[in-house]
Parts: sequence; C-alpha cells; structure tokens
Amino acid sequence: MKYKSTRGDVTGLTFEEALCTGYAEDGGILLPETIPKVDTNQLKSWANLSFIELAKKIIPMYVSEEEIPSSDLNDIIDRAFSRFSVPEVAPIKRLPGGLNVMELFHGPTWAFKDLALSCVGQFLPYFLSKRKKHINILVGTSGDTGSAAIEAVKGQKWIDIVVLLPRGRCSQIQELQMTTVMEDNVHVYRVDGSSDDLDIPIKLCFQDHAFTKRHNLSSINSINWARIMVQTVHYIYAYLQICPSCDSVVQIVIPTGACGNVTSGIVAKAMGVPIEFVCAVTQNDVVVRTVQTGKYTIADHVIQTLAPAMDIQIPYNMERIWYILNGGNTDVIKKLMTEFEETGSVAVPNDLTEAVQKVIVDTFVASDDVIRRTIKRTWDSDQYLLCPHTAVGVGYHYQQVEKNPGDTKQRVVIATASVIKFEEALQSAAIPYTRDPRVAKLFESKQKYKDMEKDDNWLEMLKEKIEDIDKGRQTE
Ligand SMILES: *Cc1c(COP(=O)(O)O)cnc(C)c1O
Repeated sequence: MKYKSTRGDVTGLTFEEALCTGYAEDGGILLPETIPKVDTNQLKSWANLSFIELAKKIIPMYVSEEEIPSSDLNDIIDRAFSRFSVPEVAPIKRLPGGLNVMELFHGPTWAFKDLALSCVGQFLPYFLSKRKKHINILVGTSGDTGSAAIEAVKGQKWIDIVVLLPRGRCSQIQELQMTTVMEDNVHVYRVDGSSDDLDIPIKLCFQDHAFTKRHNLSSINSINWARIMVQTVHYIYAYLQICPSCDSVVQIVIPTGACGNVTSGIVAKAMGVPIEFVCAVTQNDVVVRTVQTGKYTIADHVIQTLAPAMDIQIPYNMERIWYILNGGNTDVIKKLMTEFEETGSVAVPNDLTEAVQKVIVDTFVASDDVIRRTIKRTWDSDQYLLCPHTAVGVGYHYQQVEKNPGDTKQRVVIATASVIKFEEALQSAAIPYTRDPRVAKLFESKQKYKDMEKDDNWLEMLKEKIEDIDKGRQTE
C-alpha cells in the first residue's frame, strides 16, 4: 500500500513515510492511493471477532507485509491495546431507554484519541529503532490529543514530544494529565490562546522544510494518516455489533471537531461497510455549515463550550473527505484549498456537497444548554453519565426519538470521552458526583510545564526548544 497527497503532487509514499509526515510538501494531507474494499461475505465472516482480532484484519490492509511483517504487526496491535481497561476495547452499551453508546474511552487518558495514538506510539519506535533515528513530535491540542500522545510515547528512547495546550481552555483534568508527566522526553507548554491560535506556530514550523528536516519534526495531530487508519476499526466493529447479518444500514452519530473521527468513518464506508453518519457539533459549527450549505468559511473566533475538544475553527480533515468523495480528483481539491487558504472562505462545488450529504446524512448543533439537559436526561432515565462531548451526539438521538416516536433506525452514538474527565460539566448540569480516585490522584501529583504568554514569540520559543532538545541529545 502506498500513500499520496490530496493535492496530487506527492505520491508513492510508504506507510512509514506517511506515519512520519504531517502535511505533505504540496500542502495537502495523505491518504492511501486506493482504498481497499471489503465485500459482504468477508464482512459477515468478521462478525464474531473481538475488537483486537478485527484490528488485525483491517490494519494489514493498509500496511504492506514488506514494511511490517504480520507477526510484528500483530505484536504492535496487542501492545497498543494492552493498556485498555476492558477486554472489548470499545464496548457498546445498550441502555434500557433504547440508546446505544459505543464507549471509546477505556484507554489510558479516558478519551477516544487513545485508540489511534496508542497504535502510533508503537508504530513509531518500531521504525525508529530500526533506523536508529530520533524524532521530535510537535502537537497542538485542544485537550485530549496532547495527553493521549504523551501517554503513548513517554519514556521512549527515539522520541521527544513537545505539546502546546491552550491554558485555561481545556478542562482542569485534561491540563493536569499533560502537566503531571515527569519523563524527560515530554515538554509541555501552556499557551495563552485558543487551540487554533497555537496551531499557527506549529503549522509555520512545519512549513519551514529545512527546519523540519534538520530536526526530524513529526506530527501526530489528526492530520496523521495512521490515526485515521486505526479509527476505521471501531466503525467496522460498531457495524458488526449492531448488524452482524450485514443486511442493513447503521447510523453512527459522531461528536465532531476537526473531523478526524468522521473521516475514519468515511474511509470505512468507502471500504464497503453500510454505514451513514451524523455529525454533531458544539456552537462551533463550521462543519455543519459546510455540510449543509457547501460554504466552507473559517470561523472568526472559537466559542468556549462545555465540550472543549470539539471547539475548533478549521476542520482540517474536510480536505480528506472531499478527496475521497470526489473520487480522488486532486485538481478540484487543490483549487478549493488554495482559494480557502488565500481568502478564508470557499464555495464547494455543488456535486461535491451533494456527495458529502449522502454520507453525512444529518447534522446537529448542541448549545451548552442542550448538553446539560441531555446529560441530565440520560442520568435520570438510565443512570448513565455522559461526558459533555458524548452528550452532543446523544442530544441528536433524543431529538430524533421525539420527532419520530416509531423510528426503528439502527443507531449508535459514539462516546468520545469518559465523564470522569469533565467534572465541570456535571456540576453545571447539577448532577451529584464524587470524584473518581484516578482523577483524585492527578490533583496530588507534581507538575512540570512552561508558559507561553500573549506577547511572547511562540514560533521562536518553539524552534529554540527543539534545537535545545537536539543539542542536548548530541552531547549525551
Ligand atoms: C477529539 C475529540 C472529539 C472530536 O474528534 P475529531 O476527530 O476532532 O472530530 C470529540 N470528543 C472528544 C472527547 C475528543 O477528544
């Protein structure tokens, strides 16, 4: 399997190269040259597999045997999911009120980013130790990516990780998960800005190709292909749990931010799995406006909501979605993205928007008030606690149930994080709650971080830090 850029000027990359590349040199993002297909019989034959067994079927379709022999790949997958606290990895809870929730939060940092990043954290050292090569991973996070990435690579010999987090804009627990890691290869900055503000110096760093090369800079943001790939597994798993006979369509409701998760779903659908999607968002509704109107316009600012991991200004992965749904026409994508990058706004061709609407069949925007009411309703009816992100998706389910009481649609809502991470939301929904002991431990831990203030030169600080890391290693 080889990889190419959505903008067409970069082709023929190996999985290893795709794993270690952020944006492609032509400014696009990477996808497989062809998406492998799964037919119904094959799909049916997987219905009884565990999540990990299924991962061992899907992931090899994207990683050639010459790059990682299957016994090594199976070990990588086993190790990646070994820190998950339940053997099912991604269990589906069928609540008595008729709501199906797929829990993607049983990894080390209690959010769905752990699924993909745990794998990336095994793929990277596999290649790096072979090459005796060190890399610097640079991550901007709106909350969950940073901690999942840190947990996936902390203490590893061939990797240093620099994380920028938006100070005060993610939950206190999310921040502590990042600032309480003591390993020497972990470097955390609390930035006085939004998660989109801190993406700017990161993108500029990557655009300096000489610097990127010199310091082996790598990204594991949701533009990283390997993450998208691993996340396809939970869609196929969800489908098979809900419809093992493989004879009807299942609707999956996705609490959406930068569209990494929904992109994985669309890849799974392109493989041949009969699923459709609903994107549920917070008041930061760029995705909904884009899907519904075909106008892709950068938001003026990010509104802080109860679901901070979904508060984004630009859903970078839309570019991948368009590429997949227009049959890989790179000229269209290049034109679209160039106009968007120059003006901050672009009209998506109508046929492309129609193709998107066939896959993302509905959208939903949840205000903080809807989030609170949804958390309360699920607690009252099912004694089940939702995190605020998951509540955005469940809010859609309740809306549909009210609109069509006889509705028999097979639907799963993705639970992207555990409620234990988001105490603020529970307080705000007035639900009595005692702190989880795992969380209590965080509040007692020592911290290690630096701050970046508004008038600091963030790009310069970042580059200096990376130079220091590499100097330090050379004198070791
Ligand atoms: C990252 C995240 C999301 C949004 O996922 P995208 O792939 O960015 O759309 C939703 N919920 C939680 C808890 C997250 O961490």
